[in-house]
Order: sequence, then C-alpha cells, then structure tokens
Amino acid sequence: MLDELGGMRYMSKKVNRSVAWLFGLIAVFFGVLLITSNTTNAQAATTNEYIIDNRIQPVAIQYREGTFSDWFGYENGVGKPEGVVVHETADYGATAENEVSYFNREWPNMQSYVHAFVDNNAIINIHSTDYGVWGAGPTANAKYVQVELCETHSQDAFARSIANDAYYVAAKLIQYGLPAVPGQTILSHNQVSKMYGEITHTDPTGFFASMGYSMDQFNDLVVTYYNNLKNFGGVYRDGGSNTNAGSNNNTPAANVLRVNNPNGAYVPIMALRSDGTFARVTNRALMNNTDWQTDKTTEVSGVTYRRVATNEWVATTYVV
Ligand SMILES: [Zn+2]
Repeated sequence: MLDELGGMRYMSKKVNRSVAWLFGLIAVFFGVLLITSNTTNAQAATTNEYIIDNRIQPVAIQYREGTFSDWFGYENGVGKPEGVVVHETADYGATAENEVSYFNREWPNMQSYVHAFVDNNAIINIHSTDYGVWGAGPTANAKYVQVELCETHSQDAFARSIANDAYYVAAKLIQYGLPAVPGQTILSHNQVSKMYGEITHTDPTGFFASMGYSMDQFNDLVVTYYNNLKNFGGVYRDGGSNTNAGSNNNTPAANVLRVNNPNGAYVPIMALRSDGTFARVTNRALMNNTDWQTDKTTEVSGVTYRRVATNEWVATTYVV
C-alpha cells in the first residue's frame, strides 16, 4: 500500500460505469418529475427557501469510532484542517447508516474513507476530524475534513439532507476556528479535483443539478448557518422553538450519550489500563454537546464510566 500522501487514494465508485449511468438517468427522470409536480403545486421554492421557510432543523452530529486505522495529522498538524470538502455518494438509495457499514468494512479494499455521512435523518461522524482521511487525493486529504451526502430523491428528504450537510460543514468550520469562505474553506470535490489535478471526480455537482440545486446555493446556506450559529447559537436567528443546532436539543437514542463539560471546552476521556485503573487520554477529547454511541458501562473507584470507543471511556458526570 502507498503512504497516505504519496498514493492516489480517492473515492472509488462502488458501481460500474454503466450501472452508474442508468441510475443517473433514473435520478434525472425523477428529478424532472419532482420539478414538474412542484411547479403544479405552486410550491416552486428553491431548496434553500424551502429549508428556511419551514425552519428545517438539522439533526445532531452522532460521533462513533469507525474502523479506519490510519491516524495521520493534516499538513498543518493534528486538529488543524483548512476547510471542508463536500462529496456525494453516487449511490442511489443508500442511507448514511448503509454507507457507514459499507465503508467500515470495505475501506482497505477501496482505499477510501471519509469523516462523515449525511442523509435526511442522520449525521454520522466516524473518524475524528482532528485527523485526515482518504477521500479526495493526497493534497486534499492532508488539508480537509470530508463529508459525503447520501442521495435522496424527494424535495423534502433532499432539503433535510442539505440542511444536515450544511450544518455539519458550518459546525466543523466553527469548531476549528475557520472562516466560511466558499472556494477556500467550503469546497466541492469537483473544485478540489480542479485545484489539484490529481483526480477527476466532479461530485456533488451532477447530483445537485439533478435536484435543481447548485454548489453556490449550498455555499449560501452554509454561510447563513455559520453566521447564525456564531451570532445566535442556532441555525436560524428567529428559530422559535427550533433553535437547537448549537445545543443539539433533539433527544438522543437510547444507546447514545450526550456529553458536556460545563467547566471546559472539551469532555475528557479515559483509557482502561491492564491493571484495571484508568489513565486520562491526553491527545483526544470529546466536544461539548456531542452525541456518542455507547455499548458498555464500568465502575472504577466509585465513578461510573460509559464506553464510547474501543478503549475510550467517559465519566457519567459528563453525561447530560
Ligand atoms: Zn467525492
């Protein structure tokens, strides 16, 4: 295998070209049907108008530890990405959960992995964004957080997926103290392909177009969410009952913990040593107000801990 900066690691398509063409044609066909039906319903709003008019609320980011085992920092260091690359899976009908399972199993064969998958119902982050992934060629992999949008084909589902995707991008830019600058810190895979000339992928442009949407419109939504999150703590400045995004007020699932450290910016995590005692993990921590999948509970010195990764535990005193 090539090293992470020398190789040509990129998103390899999981369908062959002819099948992809067929799906593309089907997608365009349904896209046309949707546009027609929307027009006849006199609801011909743009996707961004539909999102904002309906105050569509992004879901919380779920953090899980995936199987990707190449922990490499960015060119500027661990925890120093320079922006976010937006991909689209080109996988008709596959959900974020489907893609997470697929990539966790197949990345060694495909030589590709990304930080997160987003659909209309979920934002699933499967690799710490402090570290790089293999999604867009060696130069981009050393610079950017990378997120894949899953395909949905109704206006409402597409709008929800776009709201989730834009929220993820805005939240990551804020997390790393980056400005929201289209073409610089917010990039499509298509733009990255042109900038660095290492690969030829053009997503998400074609899928966006099939849904009557564009990267420019997506950039507008990211910048809107970014500014509102920074200034008002939610994705809408007048979000009414739906001002969650920054604080993730939707209820997590039963096997999901929400963690917060009221006295600091991060929630500490502990690793279990072979002698049964805990050592604090010094190079990683959990962001405040984030959701983590958990599967085990243990008690050490009178403190209860929940497991959130292979050997990463969080004290229940930080569970919201
Ligand atoms: Zn891509």
